[in-house]
Amino acid sequence: MSAFRVLARDGGARAGVLSTAHGDVQTPVFMPVGTQATVKAVSSGDLRELGAEIVLGNTYHLALRPGAASVRELGGLHRFMAWRRAILTDSGGFQVFSLRERRKVDEDGVTFRSHLDGSEQRLTPEIAMAIQADLGSDIAMAFDECPPANAPNAEIDAAMARTTRWAARSLEAPRAPGQLRFGIVQGAVDLARRRAHLAAISALPFDGFALGGLGVGEPPDVMHAVVDAIAPEMPEQSARYLMGVGTPADLLAGIAAGIDMFDCVMPTRNARNGQLFVRGGRVNIGNTRHRHDPEPIDAGCPCECCANYSRAYLSHLFHAKELLYYRLATVHNLRHYLDLMAGARAAITNGTLRRYWANYLATRGPSDPDPDPLPVSPPSAFDAT
Ligand SMILES: [Zn+2]
Repeated sequence: MSAFRVLARDGGARAGVLSTAHGDVQTPVFMPVGTQATVKAVSSGDLRELGAEIVLGNTYHLALRPGAASVRELGGLHRFMAWRRAILTDSGGFQVFSLRERRKVDEDGVTFRSHLDGSEQRLTPEIAMAIQADLGSDIAMAFDECPPANAPNAEIDAAMARTTRWAARSLEAPRAPGQLRFGIVQGAVDLARRRAHLAAISALPFDGFALGGLGVGEPPDVMHAVVDAIAPEMPEQSARYLMGVGTPADLLAGIAAGIDMFDCVMPTRNARNGQLFVRGGRVNIGNTRHRHDPEPIDAGCPCECCANYSRAYLSHLFHAKELLYYRLATVHNLRHYLDLMAGARAAITNGTLRRYWANYLATRGPSDPDPDPLPVSPPSAFDAT
C-alpha cells in the first residue's frame, strides 16, 4: 500500500497525507531543518506547539558527532531529541559533495575529511543507509552524487549514472522498521537530463521521489522552469519532495507545480541573521527604524513572539545578542512558513490556490526595502493552467 494519498487537487497542486511510523504528515508540508538533532534555537516542545509534523535530520553531521551508534544506543533520534513526530534524514550526499577539495569519489562511494577534526571518513550507499537505520528516521534518502551547478555535462552525466546505481544499492540495504525510502533525481537544470534521470529513478521501488541539486546557485527563474516541467511528470501516487528550497514565493510556485514536501534552512538561518518574514516581504530587525517601534513584527501573526513582543524589544535583543532573540525570531519565522503551508493546503482543498498565491505576494506588510524582493504576482504562465 502506498504511504502517500492525494486528498484534493487544484490545477497541478495536490493536498495529501503521508503516513509514517511516527504519524501522518499533511501535505504540502514544510520540514524545519534540524541538522544536529535540533532545529537551532528552539526545543522539540516549541516545534510541537508550532504544529510541525515532520523535521529533517542530517546524516553527515550526526554520523560525525555524536555518531550514529551512539544515537542508536540512546534509543534512536526520536528519543534522543525528544521528538515523537516524523523525521526525514538526508543521506549525507549533499554535504559530502559540498566539501569539494576534501573528498574523493569512486564507484563504491566517497572518501572525505571531516570538517570537525580532519579525520578520514567514508560514505557509501550502504553506510549512508546503515546510519539512517541507526538513527531510526521515518524517511531515509538514497545516497546520491550532487555535482556543482556549473559542472561540465560529462560530469553531470557521470553523476546521474552513478546516482542511479547507488539508488539501487540503497534499496538493497537494511532499513529501520517502517522506514520509508525516497530516491533522488539529479540532472542539473537541463530538462532532457532531468527527464532521463527521473525515468531511471522512478523505475525503482522507492516510497517517494525528490528533486535534488536545485536551489544551489542557479537563478530562481531557471529553478522554477525545471520544477514547473518536471514535478508534474513525477510519479502521481508518491510524495514529491523539492530538496533545500526556498523562499515563500519558491514554495508557492513549487506547490502549484505539484510538489508536496520542502525543507530549507532559510526561515531558521535568516531569523538568526535578523531577517524576519512577513506577508509579501521581510523585516530586517537590525535597521534603526525598528528601535522605537511598539508594533509586533506581524500584527496578524499568532506566534509567541508577535503576541507578546514589540519590534523595539526584538531590535534591542538582536543588537545586544541576547539568546532570547534567536528563539523568538526562529519561532516567528517557522510560524510564518508553517502557516503559509497550512493556508496553501486549505486553498487547494477549496480550489482557491491561485487566489491565495496572488494574495500572499500582493499583500505588503510594513516590511523593509528588500535587496532580494519577492515577485509581486505569480508568473503569468500559471494563469493558463
Ligand atoms: Zn510571529
